[in-house]
Amino acid sequence: MTCPLCQHQSSTIFDQDKIRSYYLCGNCELVFVPREALISPTEEKKRYDSHQNSDQDPGYHHYLQNISQEVLPHLLKSERGLDFGCGATKILGSFFEQRGHSVDSFDLYYHPDQSIWDKKYDFIILSEVIEHLGEPETVMKRLSSILNPAGKIFIKTKMYPQKSQFPNWFYKRDITHVQFFNQKSFEFLAQLMKMTGPEKIGDDLFLFKE
Ligand SMILES: [Zn+2]
Repeated sequence: MTCPLCQHQSSTIFDQDKIRSYYLCGNCELVFVPREALISPTEEKKRYDSHQNSDQDPGYHHYLQNISQEVLPHLLKSERGLDFGCGATKILGSFFEQRGHSVDSFDLYYHPDQSIWDKKYDFIILSEVIEHLGEPETVMKRLSSILNPAGKIFIKTKMYPQKSQFPNWFYKRDITHVQFFNQKSFEFLAQLMKMTGPEKIGDDLFLFKE
């Protein structure tokens, strides 16, 4: 099975449940669902619509505010950012704007403004996004190409647990989650983006720097 991050073919089966199989890449240690088993974009959008995080939900607000508080100490004054995969709302971006950062918010389904690819950013945030990407290698390389010198990428995702705990791990049950990282696959990702990292800076939150 081809690894969607490093493209090696040296994977072995890691887990199998009623719905999907999960493979472990022998090269970069990414755990992934084979790309042939991914649901269609239409089905994926339906799932996101039904799990909609509302603007009005105080819990969701608080969750995003915590992320911004973990990220803000790593930013310089008025750095420009991109919230990549923001979902239906632009709340996370608004917390940075309140602190003097201008932030664009992009989402493949809800805010698909392709002009982001013609701009440059000082920092990019992917909050619970990287585990959803169909083509993580392509997307992450492309994102690193729109960073200014000394740019930063903040990734929030859960690292996968050891093999014995994986079958009962709640995070893999969401069928829109199609790959999971560990330290080694994050290091591979850093190389791919020509950056250093991961540096753990918060709750499931990792910083990569140029
Ligand atoms: Zn790999």
